[in-house]
Amino acid sequence: MTIFYEFGGKLYANITNKCPCACVFCIRKNGDSIGGNDSLWLSHEPDIEEIISAYEAFDKTGLSDLVFCGYGEPMTRADIRIEFAKYVKEHTDMTIRVNTNGLVPLIDPDFDTEKMRGVIDSVSISLNAPDKESYLEVTKPKFGIDSFDVMLQFAKKMKDVVGDVAFTVVDVISEEQISACQELSDDLGIPLRVRHNVTNNESYT
Ligand code: SF4
Repeated sequence: MTIFYEFGGKLYANITNKCPCACVFCIRKNGDSIGGNDSLWLSHEPDIEEIISAYEAFDKTGLSDLVFCGYGEPMTRADIRIEFAKYVKEHTDMTIRVNTNGLVPLIDPDFDTEKMRGVIDSVSISLNAPDKESYLEVTKPKFGIDSFDVMLQFAKKMKDVVGDVAFTVVDVISEEQISACQELSDDLGIPLRVRHNVTNNESYT
């Protein structure tokens, strides 16, 4: 099964298929893989030993950036992800980014985000929409209408804990909504990246 894959000159970690959302743009609806890699559907959720073993076996020549992304929300396995990120930091000088929906306070209320300090270099958070109602329509989180505010609080916390934080939206929303997302991002001092809704790329978390 594919725990690691290369895409766009970066190493991606696919450690879970679990996700509490059903985003309208999720690439998982369009296929089994990305960029010609093998299927990203896991036969089981790998434990830390399997993750490290797969990492060591992967040819990382020329790769200096590790991204936690995959066919699922990586923060559904937050503690294992941090444990593995520490391993990578101890053995390499790779930079580590997490692409997340920002809902870990709802996914795992016991997870201490302080564990990310000094281990994770950057966090990309799916803003997806400018307000809680449209967020619900685009992201469809199982936690309901409070999810948007929790995600924003997480983003503010990440500015302190990690420092390098960015928002993303996918252009499935209107231009007016994208402009409103830009205003919200500016107010929070977090850069916004607008992604195109295309298949077979990294348009997921
Ligand atoms: S885009 Fe990410 S957060 Fe949304 S359903 Fe897909 S894996 Fe989950």
